[in-house]
Amino acid sequence: MDPLPTHHRVLIVEDEPQIAEIIDVFLAREGVSRLIARDGEDALNAASYWQPDLVILDLKLPKRDGYSVLAELRSRSDVPVIILSALGEDVDKLSGFRLGCDDYMVKPFNPLELIARARAVSGRRLRTDSGRILAIGPLRIDLDAHQASLADEILSLTPTEFRILRVLAERGGKLVTRSQIVDAAMDEEAFDKSVNPHISRLRQKIEERTQGGLRLVSVRAEGYRLEVLQ
Ligand code: CA
Repeated sequence: MDPLPTHHRVLIVEDEPQIAEIIDVFLAREGVSRLIARDGEDALNAASYWQPDLVILDLKLPKRDGYSVLAELRSRSDVPVIILSALGEDVDKLSGFRLGCDDYMVKPFNPLELIARARAVSGRRLRTDSGRILAIGPLRIDLDAHQASLADEILSLTPTEFRILRVLAERGGKLVTRSQIVDAAMDEEAFDKSVNPHISRLRQKIEERTQGGLRLVSVRAEGYRLEVLQ
């Protein structure tokens, strides 16, 4: 298995110093940069300013638990996350995966196995990252290039409009609730209503290009979905 790329930054979120230290020592041998966060709030701050390539996340943490940290991370980015927790029950495992962690290990753990999984997750991510395209009707979203096109013409979108379009495309033609859009595309402090102008502009950009071939449909009081008209 390929080693972790040495330019990788790994955020270790762990409140027990001995465990954080063990992980840190083994990651240091891989040559990657490491940062340790001791609680959930620290973790989210560090994720913002340090932009890690991989997060190793404990679940029982002071201030904010790992599930809440993972949910927040996921609303902001696709950074790979390995949960490392003493909670071994299946129910915890399931809710971890549902929120989008990439792997899960139960303490006590073998640090070499953690490194192997970190390599696997990073390798998998590098592979799936190349050429990821979301498509619906005439719409193509290139997730790597952060570029959307309609019928082979590139759409000029703001970052927020791009994120909204991505969420809608990821759901295919299914309904996306307003709060899901706010969670995925807007700043933390955004209110539900603040998404409206972004939606309006995005709708205009889509519909003027496709003459109604692809529509951004409002579902009253619920949310939005993309609709492809044949
Ligand atoms: Ca803990």
